[in-house]
Amino acid sequence: MLLTAKNLLLNLLLVFAPLSIIQILYLLKHTNFLKKSSGWLLTLFPGIAIILCMVYPVVVDDNFILDFRRIPFILGALYGGKWVAIVYLIVTLGYRFTLGGTGFYSTLLSFTLLTIVASMVSSRFLEYSLKQKLLVAASIDLMVGVSSTVISLTFFETQIHTSSWILFNVTSLLGVLLATLVYEVFLNQFKLLQSVMEGQKLEVVSHLAASISHEVRNPLTVSRGFLQLIDSDLKSKQTKEYMGLAIQELDRATEIINDYLTFAKPFPEDVEEIDVAGEIAYSVSVITPLATLKDVTITTKIDLPSTFIQSEKRKFQQCLMNIFKNAIEAMPDGGTLEVVAVLEGQKLKISIKDTGIGMTEDQLTRMGQPFFTTKEKGTGLGMMVSHSIVQAMNGEIIYASTPGVGTTVHLLFEI
Ligand code: ADP
Ligand code: MG
Repeated sequence: MLLTAKNLLLNLLLVFAPLSIIQILYLLKHTNFLKKSSGWLLTLFPGIAIILCMVYPVVVDDNFILDFRRIPFILGALYGGKWVAIVYLIVTLGYRFTLGGTGFYSTLLSFTLLTIVASMVSSRFLEYSLKQKLLVAASIDLMVGVSSTVISLTFFETQIHTSSWILFNVTSLLGVLLATLVYEVFLNQFKLLQSVMEGQKLEVVSHLAASISHEVRNPLTVSRGFLQLIDSDLKSKQTKEYMGLAIQELDRATEIINDYLTFAKPFPEDVEEIDVAGEIAYSVSVITPLATLKDVTITTKIDLPSTFIQSEKRKFQQCLMNIFKNAIEAMPDGGTLEVVAVLEGQKLKISIKDTGIGMTEDQLTRMGQPFFTTKEKGTGLGMMVSHSIVQAMNGEIIYASTPGVGTTVHLLFEI
């Protein structure tokens, strides 16, 4: 029978058909149609491809049968490891033996070599980059191709043209590259799918946490009110001090819950046009007592002739206040807090500058990450909340900071 590219390509198709079935089964599994199925699928299907390739081979003569069984063999062994390779070897040799002919010995030698080499590489194969994986798979394919060709030509006097050998080996090389790529794409898709599922679970948890936080906030507020009432009746100085501490801690708990709720739901429904200058002035006035206590002087320069922005009053104030508070906390020995708001073309720019301890490069890259804090009693939620509010307003936060000199936080919004 003539060895044509057509025959080879048909055989190559048998390598890819089972591969596509794996993908379908995995998708079914992740969409909950199939409850159980795991890693073995990935190794079973290359095994099926090996058998299919051998059942429908390209017959050259009575002794020689060509097929691409080595492609799924290489894939399965590299991704599945030593034991998978050994099972494949037994299956391949067993089946090839029943077919008879001298080709069996060529298979015996070249596939044993393949099993040994692939088993050695497989332990580190999964950590390789895509390029490295392709290179390894192609090299092993080439090795099997060359060894089986040499064995067949020297020991068994095969009547196959050299050009046909070349055609066969080049097709195999292209096949193994393509199959590795396809396999990688599948694996990445599965991983992506899994992370999407995880993300959905997290979302449910965060909604749940938000509603619990909401429920907890009310009793906290009520308890605080009663404690304050009792406080006004207290005579002893020490019990008064304890009461003060209790109220302070309740405030702290409420603050954390507020921060968390804002993050879980940065923008509820009531977005309105808010007057930027008014909101900044209000936020400054709220924070001023704290600044005075810490020896911090606040200067403001708000140059905004009736500028309005889409937001929610309370959220916008909270965003500013979190930044003001950080600035004040960064100046334990006092300093100056400068708030400047200007229009630059179509942009509103609010700059909050302090003369505090400043931040290192490493700290700057972590700004806005949940739970990043350098303070003993910090929560690491403040900037995360400010970030999510600014993001919801389609704005931008830019930091400029020098350790020991101070920090400036710029908020930029499109008007
Ligand atoms: P918290 O204030 O509870 O620590 P934040 O999210 O508000 O959490 O701030 C995170 C961290 O960012 C702070 O612990 C601090 O290290 C750093 N940081 C924020 N603002 C400033 C600032 N103006 N100067 C120096 N460090 C700052
Ligand atoms: Mg803070």
